[in-house]
Amino acid sequence: MENMQNKVARVPNLVDWSTGEIRLLSAKCNSCNTYFFPKEHYQHRPGCSRERVEDVLLPAKGKLASYTIQYYPCPPPFKTEKKITPYGIGLIEFEEENIQVTGIITDTDLKSLEIGMEMETTTLSMYTNEEKQDVVTWAFRAVQ
Ligand SMILES: [Zn+2]
Repeated sequence: MENMQNKVARVPNLVDWSTGEIRLLSAKCNSCNTYFFPKEHYQHRPGCSRERVEDVLLPAKGKLASYTIQYYPCPPPFKTEKKITPYGIGLIEFEEENIQVTGIITDTDLKSLEIGMEMETTTLSMYTNEEKQDVVTWAFRAVQ
């Protein structure tokens, strides 16, 4: 795994690398057996009593369910010092959890994208903060 020291998440409680793998922080509702992301999204299903909701880490790897390629910069409030245009936005499916999460596709040849290919969760550096930390958001890349 890449060196995650000196990295800090742009928004807390979305991505985790404390296990040695980069994984999304999701939640599972045991009342209706639904996973949701971000885990603060308690309104995940109309009428659900939302009891026994637990924090879970999604697997590091999922499958590319759909994608698009953007040729213009990410609109605010997204902030990055890097020129990432054009970039892909992927919809990644975690089959066992029955959840799909969108994210920027990074470190991947966009011409190589194919529906169904294996993708892994990673981080995308956005900017350096005043504490000289690398501020990151979650992203996905093709499994090498
Ligand atoms: Zn529920």
